[in-house]
Amino acid sequence: MLTRLTSGRLRKNTWQPLLALLLGLLGGGVRAQTTTATGPPPDSANVVLVTIDGLRWQELFDGADARLLHRDPRYRTLRSRYMWPTAADRRAALLPFLWDSLAPRGQVLGNRALGNCQDVANHRRVSYPGYNELLTGAPDDQRISGNRGIYNPNQTVLEYLNRQPGVAGRVAAFASWEAFPFILNQPRSGLPVDAGLDGRERPDSLTYQAARRYLLRARPRVLFIAFGNTDTQAHAGRYAEYLDATRAIDSYLADLWATLQALPQYRGRTTLLITTDHGRGRGRLWSQHGRELLASGQTWLAAIGPGVPATGEARTPGQHYQGQVAGQVARCLGLDYPAPPAGALTGVVTATAAP
Ligand SMILES: [Zn+2]
Repeated sequence: MLTRLTSGRLRKNTWQPLLALLLGLLGGGVRAQTTTATGPPPDSANVVLVTIDGLRWQELFDGADARLLHRDPRYRTLRSRYMWPTAADRRAALLPFLWDSLAPRGQVLGNRALGNCQDVANHRRVSYPGYNELLTGAPDDQRISGNRGIYNPNQTVLEYLNRQPGVAGRVAAFASWEAFPFILNQPRSGLPVDAGLDGRERPDSLTYQAARRYLLRARPRVLFIAFGNTDTQAHAGRYAEYLDATRAIDSYLADLWATLQALPQYRGRTTLLITTDHGRGRGRLWSQHGRELLASGQTWLAAIGPGVPATGEARTPGQHYQGQVAGQVARCLGLDYPAPPAGALTGVVTATAAP
């Protein structure tokens, strides 16, 4: 998985000016680590960040694409599982927790059909640069240029939070992709990072079980769960399996949210943020992503929790950026992350999470 890269001769990159502007907004990286919080952290708030590797906004908002699913010889069976006349029914069939439970009580950003956009600012549009951007708050195209296993020179929000009073020692990460000890710079950050299986990608079901057991036993205040089987199936061109992986993750999210609400430490005090590291191509290029594929920079964000106003699916034009996620994670605990100079990009968490 460390060599997971896109391939093919694709369209020329035509959005350099936009990215130049965006990098101006987000530039600077997470170098300054001296910013202090605005106040003592609410000691009862928690946050769970979940990523679903390479899940396209197209499936998130519209459900299964009949043109892609139709190529599968099992289409007749698959059709009954995923194909419905309306986008609302198709997406609820694919992601029932997200659309039936989360959306009415939270927010979902990034439906480009409605003009609501979220994008990565990195030019690479592959996994490590995407995770670096969303976890640190800024792209780093120079040093994080691909999926090569190098220890991240940048501080992630998880590492930052793991050094804050009241949070230190209560941050943990679980990932299907074995690259996360590099992305989170485990030796430097000291974060518990449970990633991969025998040096390879781990099934998402096992990643979730490990994270759930840890949640119940150790009661972290910051939990990061990175699912990855969606991307693996997509790269293999297996659209039905990509959908199945997505639906399985949704079932883990439903169980996760129910588990959190059953525990007094977490009930009403926990924000769940769900996003992805990159998008994918459109149409016949759906399985790919990378530098030359503009659409693969398109992402999305879903959130629910006490600090997230329940405005549902964002239906008005807007522009959000992947680099906002890091600050949002800290904001859930009432902390200010020493983010790049992007103060105007406040995101969906408007209040401190603690009641
Ligand atoms: Zn990825």
